[in-house]
Amino acid sequence: MLVDFHYEADVVVVGLGAAGGCAAIEAYDSGAEVVIVEKQPENRHHSNTRMSGGGFHSPNPDGCPEALKAYAKAMFSGDNLPLKLEGEMPEFAEELAEIWATYAPQNAAFMRSLDPQFQTVSMSSAAFPDFPGAKDAGYAVVRSSYSGSADEKVLYGLTRNLDKSQKQSGEAFHACLLTGIDSRGVPVHYDTPASRLILDEAGMVIGVTCKREDGSSINYHARRAVILSCGGYEYNKRMRKAFMDGPACEGWAFYGSPANTGDGIEMAASIGAGLSKVGSVAGRIICAIPERRHGLKIGLNTNGVGKPNEIVVDSYGQRFASERRITKDPSRYIFYKEALHFNTITLDYPRIPSWMIFDESMRERGAVVWTASATYNDIDWGEDNLKAIENGWILKGGTLEELAEKIRNHPDNRERMDAATLTEAVRRYNEHCEAGWDPDYDREPGTLGPVQEPPFYAIPLYPGGPNTKGGLRVNAQRQVLDWQDNPIPHLYAVGEIASVFQFVYQGGGNLAEGITLGRLAGRFAAAEKPYH
Ligand SMILES: Cc1cc2nc3c(=O)[nH]c(=O)nc-3n(C[C@H](O)[C@H](O)[C@H](O)COP(=O)(O)OP(=O)(O)OC[C@H]3O[C@@H](n4cnc5c(N)ncnc54)[C@H](O)[C@@H]3O)c2cc1C
Repeated sequence: MLVDFHYEADVVVVGLGAAGGCAAIEAYDSGAEVVIVEKQPENRHHSNTRMSGGGFHSPNPDGCPEALKAYAKAMFSGDNLPLKLEGEMPEFAEELAEIWATYAPQNAAFMRSLDPQFQTVSMSSAAFPDFPGAKDAGYAVVRSSYSGSADEKVLYGLTRNLDKSQKQSGEAFHACLLTGIDSRGVPVHYDTPASRLILDEAGMVIGVTCKREDGSSINYHARRAVILSCGGYEYNKRMRKAFMDGPACEGWAFYGSPANTGDGIEMAASIGAGLSKVGSVAGRIICAIPERRHGLKIGLNTNGVGKPNEIVVDSYGQRFASERRITKDPSRYIFYKEALHFNTITLDYPRIPSWMIFDESMRERGAVVWTASATYNDIDWGEDNLKAIENGWILKGGTLEELAEKIRNHPDNRERMDAATLTEAVRRYNEHCEAGWDPDYDREPGTLGPVQEPPFYAIPLYPGGPNTKGGLRVNAQRQVLDWQDNPIPHLYAVGEIASVFQFVYQGGGNLAEGITLGRLAGRFAAAEKPYH
């Protein structure tokens, strides 16, 4: 094939997040010449990694390796669920668990090696205490920080404009990655979206074409390999329709970066890559507002759910779960499945959207969504929620009956809300608060605060969350496979685009795989025989 190449390197990394950054660094440290192409312009670059809480798994290096392997295998294969019907990656789980047990305990040390000022703060341990190995694996999740603390209040973006020494969460993680990349002199070509893989006559990947906004194309020659690390498909309408259950566009929402439009999945699929659990997401139910990117509503991290003075009801006004499960780790990474409940008689998704109902005391306590995170996407919610009420993003009623009427008139409710059902749900919940016990859904007693102080408020909650997880089918070495499970020569994928966590997920898993498996992909890519 005759292609005019404009730039060449051993390894071309597509997308600069946790996965791409770590892959590039490791490929460089393995002796390869590396270039990163990144879709967003440098001054507005906000990957999901940067927007994140900066938490990642970094098991204690002194933990028992066999126990860690057993725990990792349970996470990757799902084999330890009582009734597992998902069938995810049993072929690769053993090898992946071995890799995880060997390299994941180095995660924090690896990040510190990029920048000695980078610190980690302990966060949690094994989220699945009944999994084999959980007791002895030394499982640990840590949070990224330069300031030495991990303050809940500054999670998700608040340290964005501060000096590096003050940064926390995803901002700290991102700053550490950039330090590692800069100190190695690995070039990052911003504003350079990859759009097509270039193959030789035998089907080997030898490069990638990037298309700039002005219409010009740049062909990158990858002598050894291309690594796709350009995220999931949260903001791709067609992919959402193709892969997600339920009303995939209007009935779902994501709160990460709108730059993740599934480009890598499309590029690889168009040269014959296989797919795996593409509909799988790390998600729950979250608020969305009619501000749109790529035609899709923007989601917001709705951390107010599960706190006192609030309940969640379905479209008819009925509670259906403990609200705390919606925001608690690990159920918050799978709760979306409950929201997809379908009524086969009425042909209706009664929980899409669900409704967060809260009272004035909660409204006064502060924002019910993560406002700092929302500012990455230029959304101004307001710390006291008043701006959101003014914008119509929060519905307000002097009484529950009035609120129910407003919900009925919301376009996504389609007149399903029933005032009597909602009023009864609130009355019964308040009775449980009084008793200090929720016999209906066993909600944690510490979160049982009544919904009683008018005015009352409502926001719609849709299945969704931070990111998609399913995507390209890859093996343990992160080689992209075709539909016959043959590796596509010189093509790797890592990160959200092909997550190793396809069903069971513990918070911090995505950044952890970015480090552990990003490094692995970088090493394997650098070791490929160069193409001439
Ligand atoms: C608010 C929030 C909080 C989170 N908190 C955590 C947490 O604490 N811990 C955790 O583990 N996970 C967390 N997650 C999830 C986690 O952030 C992501 O899953 C992870 O960062 C994905 O990393 P990645 O490298 O695969 O992709 P990303 O970090 O999304 O990076 C992908 C990059 O590819 C670029 N790109 C896209 N298309 C192209 C193209 N065509 N060409 C070139 N570049 C392209 C994008 O612009 C982007 O910079 C959170 C997510 C969000 C949104």
